[in-house]
Amino acid sequence: MFDKSTWIKLPRNVLQGHGVLDDLSAAVDELYLSGDPFLVTSPSPNRIAGDRVRDQFDDIDSVSLDRASFESVERVVDAAREADAGYLIALGGGKPIDVAKMASDRLDCGFISVPTAASHDGIVSGRSSIPEGDTRHSVAADPPLAVVADTELLAEAPWELTTAGCADIISNYTAVKDWELAHRLKNVEYSEYAGALSQMTAEMLVGSADSIKPGLEESAWIVTKALVSSGVAMSIAGSSRPASGAEHLFSHQLDRIAPGSALHGHQVGVGSIMTEYFHSGARGEWTDIRDALSTMGAPTTADELGIDDETIIEALTTAHEIRDRYTILGNGVSEEAAIEAATITGVI
Ligand SMILES: [Zn+2]
Repeated sequence: MFDKSTWIKLPRNVLQGHGVLDDLSAAVDELYLSGDPFLVTSPSPNRIAGDRVRDQFDDIDSVSLDRASFESVERVVDAAREADAGYLIALGGGKPIDVAKMASDRLDCGFISVPTAASHDGIVSGRSSIPEGDTRHSVAADPPLAVVADTELLAEAPWELTTAGCADIISNYTAVKDWELAHRLKNVEYSEYAGALSQMTAEMLVGSADSIKPGLEESAWIVTKALVSSGVAMSIAGSSRPASGAEHLFSHQLDRIAPGSALHGHQVGVGSIMTEYFHSGARGEWTDIRDALSTMGAPTTADELGIDDETIIEALTTAHEIRDRYTILGNGVSEEAAIEAATITGVI
């Protein structure tokens, strides 16, 4: 008997380009939502673009958050209920988007993603990550109903945020390899479409490396397009597998043992260099990943991440404990093997 089924949740409207922020209310109108919007933002995005959002709606309350935390999620949930909001609009980098995504899940309402930095694929995906104490909680929620990515705004974000977004996409290479491996060894469900889309996204980004430069609005365009298709790959897969493998486990472990040291994308990029080495050996494709990262100005070493060598090794040898996700790390790599991988790849 045929008993397969799938439920793919995608953003309905994706607007990308110069000045599209001014089309936000038009994009929202098309969604036929009921009720008033509620704006979730943080101080600097609010300063830069808050009024441009508020001016487009008759009745809109807002909250500005200093940090992403479960407390912030509660604050948004309470304030949005108080305002009788019909849906949320998240304006900002990672924090307001992560918080609004989680709050909208709690409120049973939709949210619109208006990123002001192209720093990671959470601006499009259904995954939300919130720090709690010395760890981060990754929660599955619905993806945004719409994404409004104004490249004029995104190009003004600090350059390192854009290189972090690039590195998050480049890590799709190893994420897909881990997913295929888990499929072969552990019979984990694999989607050819999602795997191919995710890999192609990374290839296209690397192929455009020459146009990814500070001060070029086109850079923001290329990265955002890649983040959108990476998010779509995750939606098709119904999991973060197409964009999250051992390199993400490594990064999550760094978040635990050295919180706040480096950006998510930069950590997964460096992780990807080493996990590619585990996949294909000393003469493998890890040099391609390293070269692509360094061309874009993303870190390729522990030093550039601002993390000491011991911490890198500790994260690499313990990353497999993070969650039940089979990757090239298997049941863990030995300290000697980790040191060798990190040394050969020049990470330490
Ligand atoms: Zn990521």
